[in-house]
Amino acid sequence: MQANTQKLVAYGNYVAGQTLPSAAGQMFASVNPATGQKWAQFVESGTDDVDAAVQAARSALSGPWGALSPTRRGRLLMAWGEKIAEEAENIARLESAQNGKLLAEMKAQANVVKEWLYYFGGLADKVEGRVVPIERQSVLNYTLREPIGVVGVIVPWNSPTFLTIMSCAPAMAAGNTIVLKPSEVTSASAFELARLAELAGIPPGVINVVTGGRAAGEALVDHERVAKICFTGSDAAGRAIAARAGARLAGCTLELGGKSPNIVFQDASVDNAVAGVLSGIFAAAGQTCIAGSRAYIHESLYDQVVERLVQRAQAIKLGDPLRADTQMGPAATAAQLQKNLTMVARAVDGGAEVLSGGKRAQVSGMEQGYFFEPTILHRLKADNPLMHEEVFGPVLAVTSFRDEEEVVALANNTQFGLAAGVWTRDLSRAHRLAKRLQAGTIWINTYRAMACNSPFGGYKSSGIGRVNGIEAVDQFLQTKSVWCETSDEIQDPFVLKV
Ligand code: NAD
Repeated sequence: MQANTQKLVAYGNYVAGQTLPSAAGQMFASVNPATGQKWAQFVESGTDDVDAAVQAARSALSGPWGALSPTRRGRLLMAWGEKIAEEAENIARLESAQNGKLLAEMKAQANVVKEWLYYFGGLADKVEGRVVPIERQSVLNYTLREPIGVVGVIVPWNSPTFLTIMSCAPAMAAGNTIVLKPSEVTSASAFELARLAELAGIPPGVINVVTGGRAAGEALVDHERVAKICFTGSDAAGRAIAARAGARLAGCTLELGGKSPNIVFQDASVDNAVAGVLSGIFAAAGQTCIAGSRAYIHESLYDQVVERLVQRAQAIKLGDPLRADTQMGPAATAAQLQKNLTMVARAVDGGAEVLSGGKRAQVSGMEQGYFFEPTILHRLKADNPLMHEEVFGPVLAVTSFRDEEEVVALANNTQFGLAAGVWTRDLSRAHRLAKRLQAGTIWINTYRAMACNSPFGGYKSSGIGRVNGIEAVDQFLQTKSVWCETSDEIQDPFVLKV
């Protein structure tokens, strides 16, 4: 799958178990964000590369994968989970070298995806149709729930293995085959996942990997044999993909961005709330879709909580993501670092005040790394772009509020609706807020919790459809209604009965 060319490791696409070179001879390089150095190159896939992968996925669908019983398919997904866990360290190193996220976080994700593959593997033979009671008693009507076909999976760079498995596990449990296009920032681990699938006994062609950027993604979205797109990424790309897929009436599951609020009420445990707000925004250097990037703090606690947040933010240890004592790594790309800087500068121009951070950070020995200080701002006007647009960096906007009515209106005043955190000891208030907040996930006295069996997805511009939970399998099935007349009575409307 890989060979050394000069200093850069060169990867081909992975199609039907074979490594394929670029059809047009186009490659792109990947940069390690902690060092700023190029280390690998990947195929810049075009329509011919994508077409080869889609054909392989179609052959596997009508061939070995389609021939397997759902139970056997499920067992293979579980075996795949075991293999990935065995290789978690290797996968995590590849990812950390591409997105600069902490090795420990990437390793934990590569370890935990086996839970997803056990869960969805277990669901594979629990997909059932039903018998529908029809008015005419002699008719037997039942439903068959069938795979859609080839699913195009497009994922971002922030949690490559985790998000790939979140998309592929339910799609494969439902009997579909996959063409995966990883992010151009983090392409390497996708090849490990595909290789391990085959080691686990999943037939070649069930998972195919094509690398590249936007053009490769567009070629996948446009391919007439791709039945559905499962996309995770920014809302801008999600809108573009939905429009393209819609033009040929292909379905989409979209897992998009967020501007999630974390609300601290006057009766909250301050220790827990501070820890929750802090990890909500600064874990993973803010590079998670569920980042709690807006904190609303009751006016009675505001000064106290903000002071503690600032102290804790300033104590976060930035550094080499491979070191166990590092708490925050760099931004994944030079473009993301620039976005952090630009959005903070724009907020300040609009009247915001920086309480902590706000600048590029220097890490000794890693001077070329894309490090950015954990940043807290306040005094942001409601129309400041920082209150509405996703930064995808470690940038927190804090605002005080007077009462529940006000904070519900503030929290919901965004195009996004991915998640929301509520910190309170008042049980009635907690559940009132759970109903009133417009988001796909509500966390009460916790933040960033997620499980394979609990549905996850966005309200409003944060997405369409759900991953995780039984709902996820439904996204990848189509229902057929079968009608069978069991009586011999002739039903010919053109024959007159006398
Ligand atoms: P991105 O949208 O730029 O890219 C995501 C993927 O889509 C990449 O593989 C990219 O090559 C591809 N792509 C981009 N434009 C495309 C187009 N027009 N057509 C087809 N493919 C296209 O996102 P990113 O910068 O890689 O990741 C960060 C974003 O992902 C953030 O907005 C974050 O909130 C979101 N995200 C969402 C979830 C979720 O579950 N809701 C999880 C993680 C990240």
